[in-house]
Amino acid sequence: MRRASEGRGRGREAPIAPAAEAATTVGLIGLRYHCWRCDELSTPLIGMLERGKDLFSADFVVVGDERMLTFAWELFPAFARGRWPIGEVKRRQERRTGGGYLSNGCSSCDAPFATYALVHNALPIALATNPFERLPELARVELRRDTWASICTSRWN
Ligand SMILES: [Zn+2]
Repeated sequence: MRRASEGRGRGREAPIAPAAEAATTVGLIGLRYHCWRCDELSTPLIGMLERGKDLFSADFVVVGDERMLTFAWELFPAFARGRWPIGEVKRRQERRTGGGYLSNGCSSCDAPFATYALVHNALPIALATNPFERLPELARVELRRDTWASICTSRWN
């Protein structure tokens, strides 16, 4: 019995959860995609999927805007860049407007892969034809559950 500490510990709270329960495993999903310019195969980042979740459900988080692409690319481990033909995710210049946009690119020739084309043209075809072949898991990362939850909900905003 440690009576001395009882009833006085308002400043000290127990940890919310052990580390193992506070973390979850998320797969970074690529899309097998032939470059429109050189025809070589690349695997640009297309989505994120928590382990055990269904690719054919709303649990599949599509990397469909710059915020999601940035988030996924920053998680992408360096070792996986050597295992898959994945080009650099970077900001590219828009010649006509002078602005810039973030996108995947070809691993061979660095041609930009517009996110809109990947998400709205190539992804539905991959899902409908041979998803487990065409949408490989490029890497797995550990994330805090609250970080992952906020990503899952913020995509609708
Ligand atoms: Zn290319």
